[in-house]
Amino acid sequence: KLVSREFKAEDTLVKAGAVTVGGDRIAIIAGPCAVESRDQAMTIAREVKKYGAVLFRGGAYKPRSSPYSFQGLEEEGLKILAQVREETGLGVVTEMTSPAQAELMEKYVDVVQIGARNMQNFELLKCAGKMSKPVVLKRGLAATIQEWLMSAEYIAAGGNTNIILCERGIRTFEPYTRNTLDLSAIPVLKKLTHLPIVIDPSHATGIREKVAPMARAAVAAGADALMIEVHSDPDKALSDGPQSLYPEQFGNLTRDIYVIAPVV
Ligand code: PEP
Ligand code: MN
Repeated sequence: KLVSREFKAEDTLVKAGAVTVGGDRIAIIAGPCAVESRDQAMTIAREVKKYGAVLFRGGAYKPRSSPYSFQGLEEEGLKILAQVREETGLGVVTEMTSPAQAELMEKYVDVVQIGARNMQNFELLKCAGKMSKPVVLKRGLAATIQEWLMSAEYIAAGGNTNIILCERGIRTFEPYTRNTLDLSAIPVLKKLTHLPIVIDPSHATGIREKVAPMARAAVAAGADALMIEVHSDPDKALSDGPQSLYPEQFGNLTRDIYVIAPVV
């Protein structure tokens, strides 16, 4: 398999915007769940940049459980992301939910995300495999590591080996957290694959106060990157407010991360 350690022993370094994910330094990705407006995105981008983020995240196409929930600003959201890059210099990461969006993604963003709900959307994976952008592949809500790696293989088989695996928590019987963060996936993956690993403690826990301890643990366990949801006014967020850190909390977290490991 193209993504296996047997095929390639050295760690893959993924160029994402101006930064490298993988290698000796931790890359910090941060931003709101969704791009809600130009002002909202720009405000949060400036804050997270100030506190050490090197990539900005924000959804323009949101895979919501309810069709009545905010679905994202779509192309307008992608344009805002491009403006964020222009004004802050941060590379931008956003989710692609359909192959129909691929052209716009190529035009406006630096990194394409495949969401947990689409981890086995094979047509979407094949499409990502043909793209020129690096891909963050999130683990499915109830996917095994082997299934997840086979999904990465779909992308690699299409010719795109710039893949970052994202553990974002899995479904278990435990209701105290939104999902259960599988931290053991880090050492397991490090053995099986050369691809870099990003941990998303925001979706994994669903609870603001649980994000920082899990982020610190992820870095201690060998994660290559973190993806953290941050919002300047979480109470008014159109999605995932309860798990979004206030900018100052994000600043406290990055300061702690600097103590644990070198950061990009
Ligand atoms: C997200 O990153 O905003 C998201 C929807 O994540 P997931 O696909 O992991 O639920
Ligand atoms: Mn979210």
